[in-house]
Amino acid sequence: MRIKTMLSLVFVAIAVLLSACGQQGQQPSGSLDVKTQKPYFWKMVTTWPPNFPIFQEGVERFAKDVQTMSNNRLNIKVYAGGELVPPLQTFEAVSQGTVEVGHGAGYYWAGKIPAAQFFTAVPFGMNAQGMNAWLYAGGGIELYKEVYAPHNLVPFPMGNTGVQMGGWFNKKIESVDDLKGLKMRIPGLGGKVFAKAGGTPVLLPGGEIYTALDRNTIDATEWVGPYHDERLGLYRAAKYYYYPGWHEPGPVLELIVNKKAYDSLPDDLKKIIETAAASANIWMLSQFEANNLAALKRLKQEHNVEVIAFPDDVMKALHAYTKEVLAEESEKDATFKRVYENYQAFMEDNDAWNELSEAAYQKARALK
Ligand code: CA
Repeated sequence: MRIKTMLSLVFVAIAVLLSACGQQGQQPSGSLDVKTQKPYFWKMVTTWPPNFPIFQEGVERFAKDVQTMSNNRLNIKVYAGGELVPPLQTFEAVSQGTVEVGHGAGYYWAGKIPAAQFFTAVPFGMNAQGMNAWLYAGGGIELYKEVYAPHNLVPFPMGNTGVQMGGWFNKKIESVDDLKGLKMRIPGLGGKVFAKAGGTPVLLPGGEIYTALDRNTIDATEWVGPYHDERLGLYRAAKYYYYPGWHEPGPVLELIVNKKAYDSLPDDLKKIIETAAASANIWMLSQFEANNLAALKRLKQEHNVEVIAFPDDVMKALHAYTKEVLAEESEKDATFKRVYENYQAFMEDNDAWNELSEAAYQKARALK
């Protein structure tokens, strides 16, 4: 009896203490706001083939993370490229509010926003680490949002492939002249540089590349790297696999959210989107880093692919063309110029630091 009484007294004391805490405002303000409990049901489209590893897989994970973190308040149904809208119409679908969210790469919409290309990849530009530093800590994201705002979009970095491969060719590239007359699937600024070298760049979504190469609609293609290129079966349509991916040293994949839909969300759901996108960003990059070498070995050993480095002279020529392209595009578009200047300034500092960090470390490691 006595123990029971004492226990009930303790319970009463705890209850009084807890209620006092509540009254003193210990609860974060707004957490009990009924408005924030409203569930949302959104649609998301992507530029990727259905069930495609890492890309589409990462997007599905993102949607699931958002649902878990929001305790089923923000539910995103994901559609792969072509399931709801054609892959490269993702931009319009989200911008116009047909769907609330999309995933792809900024350079796919270079025709609408030339400056978007800086938020994906710049030939001979920054790698994944540099891009993350610029975006998350160097003012990049602020610029990114500003550039997309007139299109009714809020962008977030969400994925990175790391340094890509240079692409698949059916003839050897021994000098820059060997690129002349080639029709190649190569998006963004890389495509513009390729055009300077006398080639014809073509933009195709991932799901259409293999057929185009196999039917000789294109002569060459780049896609991502060994793991993804193996999945597309590109080794069945071309035999020379060149590196490095000079044109895409650390391409960022992006989440785009319809601005009106985003602005309608309570703050915690906005934060969940931002956090889940950042989580997917590192997840995708890590997947590529972990899976590429095994795929490269299979391509060489099981599919007799010849893996070749671009000659130094070809890299030098393409690097020189890159500078011309960036200068010319800056002349045409003031926003492009502004983002270019910001990107370039950050890269120069990043390179200077890299010289005595990453580059010096790689050099030290090579000394055995
Ligand atoms: Ca690529």
